[in-house]
Amino acid sequence: MIRLPNPCLVVLVGPSGSGKSHWADASFLAGQVVSADRLRALVGEGEHDQRAGTDAFAVLDLVLDRRLKRKLLTVVDTLGLDQARRRQYVALARRHRMPVVAVTFDAPAAECRARNAHRHRPVPAKVLAAQLKQWPSVLDAVGEDGFDAVHTAGPVKIVDPQLLTALDSARRQQEEPVPLDFGLHVVSYTWPGGPLEIGARLAAIARAAEDAGFSYLSVMDHFLQIPGIGRRWEEMLDGWTTLGYVAGCTTRIKLLTLVTGVTYRNVAHLGKIAATLDVLSGGRAVCGIGAAWNDDEHHAYGWRFPPVKERFKLLEDALQLLPLMWGPGAPAFEGQVVNVPEAICYPRPLQERIPILIGGSGEKKTLRLVARYGDACNLFGDVGTVRHKLAVLHRHCEVFGRDPADVRVTQLSGVFVGDEPRAVMPSRVVVGSVDEHIGRYRELAEAGVQTAFVRLANLGDTAPVHEFGKVIQAFG
Ligand code: ATP
Ligand code: MG
Repeated sequence: MIRLPNPCLVVLVGPSGSGKSHWADASFLAGQVVSADRLRALVGEGEHDQRAGTDAFAVLDLVLDRRLKRKLLTVVDTLGLDQARRRQYVALARRHRMPVVAVTFDAPAAECRARNAHRHRPVPAKVLAAQLKQWPSVLDAVGEDGFDAVHTAGPVKIVDPQLLTALDSARRQQEEPVPLDFGLHVVSYTWPGGPLEIGARLAAIARAAEDAGFSYLSVMDHFLQIPGIGRRWEEMLDGWTTLGYVAGCTTRIKLLTLVTGVTYRNVAHLGKIAATLDVLSGGRAVCGIGAAWNDDEHHAYGWRFPPVKERFKLLEDALQLLPLMWGPGAPAFEGQVVNVPEAICYPRPLQERIPILIGGSGEKKTLRLVARYGDACNLFGDVGTVRHKLAVLHRHCEVFGRDPADVRVTQLSGVFVGDEPRAVMPSRVVVGSVDEHIGRYRELAEAGVQTAFVRLANLGDTAPVHEFGKVIQAFG
């Protein structure tokens, strides 16, 4: 099975009659295949109007450029025997930062001749003979053209780019397992049964998460549903209150907001809330926190939404104040923008220090604050992005003399387990099989991720949680 990332550029290479167009039509949508023959028919008299060749290729080049600009999966159906043209396609894909692969059609010469002969308008025998003669040297040369991969024609599966090498990685995980923790991230309460059933459904989901092996359950700290997840008026629960409820329904799972906006509450009060959750949950609280971004909510509730510079000062103050709140005594705190005469909070949390997870991957400010104050970071994105962000984080750690091993690396992504067609999935969801997800998480673990927060796309009952449990088992 050829696994092709979506999007990518696919360049077909093979003599006439080797089956290129046949394969392309069977494997892709009509609009994804850009065929020189069909363009000859469009700008000339028909598919075999050789005089229209120059114009057809001019249109082909234009179409390719526009499709790649839009990051659309595209198949170039030409002979592909011309090395200069192949290299031009590779260069074009590179320019658009798009993966590019060649697919070769190594049909026996006799078969090409036979298929050609059966055509309504065969390619002249002499022309085909010349192609077939040239073919072995083309097959040798195509490996040198700079393609990301050269495949022999066969059945195709179009996959999320993050799953391209996942099956090999899943095998690695099976042979030599590495550990990885998981967190279930709940972002929506728009579930069957409406508000009347939210409590029961959430309790069932939380218990199922615990049983499935999730180590954390996280909720958003938003008051209105956010863009990218749902509509503004859809069901949303207060994050910390929800965690209090989940604490009462569970026994082991750690609880956090991913993440609390530092602007929403008086910071000392936030410390009190987190301490309360820690005490009532038996020491299971984590304090997720970030600089906040959603001005819409602030506006709706009449909260001030300070400029970004001030929000980061507030965040830095909070990162210093919260541990003081959770510590002994009643020290005074004077920060850059926060003054607290008595950082007093009894009972103190059961944990000596409630871990602070800082959300966001901003390289100059957020990751610097993580290096200086954080117990954990929370990154988005694929393996390459994670590697890059961690390199940045480690440079910040060096500056503060912080051991990077003391900062837990967490990552958040949207996941659907199954083969739901991409079209019905919300954006930013990786759709794949259990094995594909195992492989992808293996790669994230190898990149340094220690806890993967999983936003299950179809959450609403316990079934997706059980299904994802199969992925967790591979890391247990
Ligand atoms: P050209 O470079 O001339 O466009 P091509 O590589 O696109 O050639 P096709 O048109 O795909 O070749 O195939 C030539 C003929 O062989 C077509 O009639 C096609 O239906 C038939 N054919 C190709 N592949 C197969 C296949 N796998 N099974 C059955 N018939 C096939
Ligand atoms: Mg063809």
